[in-house]
Amino acid sequence: LPDADALAGRFPLTRSPRPASDDERAQVLSDLHFGSVFTDHMVHTRWTRGEGWSGHQVMPYGDLALSPAAAVLHYGQEVFEGIKAYRHADGSVWTFRPRYNAARLKVSARRLALPELAEEDVVASLVDLVRADEAWVPSGEGESLYLRPFMFASEAFLGVHAADVVDYYVIASPSGAYFTHGLTPISIWVTQDYHRAGRGGTGFAKTGGNYASSLLPQQEAAAKGCDQVCFLDDVTQTNLEELGGMNVMVVDADGTVRTPRLTGTILEGGTRSAIIRLLTDAGRRVVEETISLDGLVQDIRSGKVTEVFACGTAAVVVPLGRLMGRDFDVAITGSEVTREIHDRLTGIQYGRLEDPYGWMY
Ligand code: PMP
Repeated sequence: LPDADALAGRFPLTRSPRPASDDERAQVLSDLHFGSVFTDHMVHTRWTRGEGWSGHQVMPYGDLALSPAAAVLHYGQEVFEGIKAYRHADGSVWTFRPRYNAARLKVSARRLALPELAEEDVVASLVDLVRADEAWVPSGEGESLYLRPFMFASEAFLGVHAADVVDYYVIASPSGAYFTHGLTPISIWVTQDYHRAGRGGTGFAKTGGNYASSLLPQQEAAAKGCDQVCFLDDVTQTNLEELGGMNVMVVDADGTVRTPRLTGTILEGGTRSAIIRLLTDAGRRVVEETISLDGLVQDIRSGKVTEVFACGTAAVVVPLGRLMGRDFDVAITGSEVTREIHDRLTGIQYGRLEDPYGWMY
């Protein structure tokens, strides 16, 4: 990628809204939660069939005017991304592997028959928004500015077809530390009634429908007293896939780390891919393979598996402390490797550790 200075300005700041006052902003930043407060600006650009993308701008954050016939509201033609900007001790602001997200947005867009936005333009849109709203990047432990690029069919047309008008936006939300007291283990309900994705479907794409279909099983998980739901594959209905918004990894007593291989039904996480790289370079054996639920439950009981953790941008890594399903309920106590990965990855993201991979941008 060209550096941020070279990409800056592709999405010019076109209007000056009244930004939040310093006091308003300071108050929000002193008590951060996730996803409910947004910064002063947003990115917008529009695609039309024939014209392509035009009108790149950073504009005041605000409600959208959308036709009730906009295709996205009816057929869900939509894709999105999630990425964080971190403030380092010297005040500088960095994102983690933005090109990974830009590339994944392209892959998702292709599957949803949406137009592709060039990777450099996606990264430029993040650069321009972060520069406009830099004061909103928090600096506390574990805090970040969460960036949410998304693209949807805005054409007002009720026929089922790939839309001829598509809007791309990026909004930003200052977010607090996922964990306030260290790495708290979460409990997982493995659903055997619902699947998140099927072969040939949209599981590998980051599209709203995948999340809509995960909400009912997530409610079921909550009713069973669990924090999160875990999905199995839809063909054999026996193999582990992922959580509603995180990938899963298993640590064996011999130090091997295993994670479900990518079959087209799992979202390929940037965190997953970074962890595979970090562990491999640290000399650990990392295997992407089919992991059966029965085998995993047995291995947890026998002590062959010592840790299970979930990983994703929002929480980085989270230990799983309990795995429950229709006919099993097992506790997992280990979190040593999980902690090691957490410290290494957040160390790189927050600039406390060297970044030998050039991941920080
Ligand atoms: N799986 C799903 C379904 C997700 O929504 C996410 C979050 N984007 C992940 C995995 C983890 O991906 P990443 O590490 O890129 O955040």
